[in-house]
Amino acid sequence: MKRTLFALLAVFTITACNNNDNLTASQDQGVNKSENNANARSKLCASEEIRKEALKNNPTLRARYNEIEQQAARYINNLKQGKVLPDGSLEIPVVVNLIYATSADNLSDSQIQDQIDVLNEDLSATNSDVSKIPAEFKPVAAGDTKVRFRLSKINRRFNPQLNWDPFTNSMKRSSTGGIDATDPTKNLNFWIVNRMSALIFNVQGFATFPESAGQWDDGIVVIAGRVGKTQDRGFGRVTTHEVGHYLNLRHIWGDANCGDDFCDDTPTQPSSNSGKPNYPLYGTCGGVQRSLMFMNYMDYVDGDAMYMFSSDQNQRIQATVSSNGPRASLR
Ligand SMILES: [Zn+2]
Repeated sequence: MKRTLFALLAVFTITACNNNDNLTASQDQGVNKSENNANARSKLCASEEIRKEALKNNPTLRARYNEIEQQAARYINNLKQGKVLPDGSLEIPVVVNLIYATSADNLSDSQIQDQIDVLNEDLSATNSDVSKIPAEFKPVAAGDTKVRFRLSKINRRFNPQLNWDPFTNSMKRSSTGGIDATDPTKNLNFWIVNRMSALIFNVQGFATFPESAGQWDDGIVVIAGRVGKTQDRGFGRVTTHEVGHYLNLRHIWGDANCGDDFCDDTPTQPSSNSGKPNYPLYGTCGGVQRSLMFMNYMDYVDGDAMYMFSSDQNQRIQATVSSNGPRASLR
């Protein structure tokens, strides 16, 4: 009930946001968003901002969003009551749509496979840094989500365009210089481009949430410089983060000051964290000081400072891919 209320409140909040000035102001700032913005501050991810724009403009998407949150709450409640056994075994085919402007962007098959390996390690909790999870958070670590990824196909297209605007999704249409999705009801489409700018930020990645399941734009987008396993590619964790959104996880701070990510086991935190915080890191919300789970994949810390999903996040993943979930067609 609590989560259902939160879901309804979230919808009302988003509906209410449609009429305030913030989005208008953002749109105004977005005049230059398509320009080459190489010196702008870097922001790991723009998924939630792009979602808000999409929800604002599309009542059907808003209705799906509402249904998905209610379904996730129902599933998790049923799970708690022992009504549903989690069958998490799932292998999702991945179609990589690589749009390259330079030879450095034209990632090799093995660099792409490295990224798929990172996803499988992170989703199964076999990542080499899993042992860094503090004792405090080990009891609520997700463990193996039983979601796996298999590289199915790599589509390549040369396009000299360096900078892409994530709000227009132009990388996802062949008619606008990108690559069309391959059946998004059956595959995770994973677009890779040189660079993205949105508003005043350079963006490393973004994802669609499950209300977009099966649509032409459904999937994740990550810049080439962040795809792969090595240190200079951010340890591949931007892709893990975006796959988290694709599977209906929210940012751990709930995209608001002390916001709600609909997971009880991720401590409420004032805002995003960045860099490589030292544990323990404390934050105060509602007058209560908490040790923050900054090492969660859904925060904004550096790739080598994030190494866990939580148990409640795993429940939301299971709800998404369950037989009656919004991404059931991936099974
Ligand atoms: Zn994000």
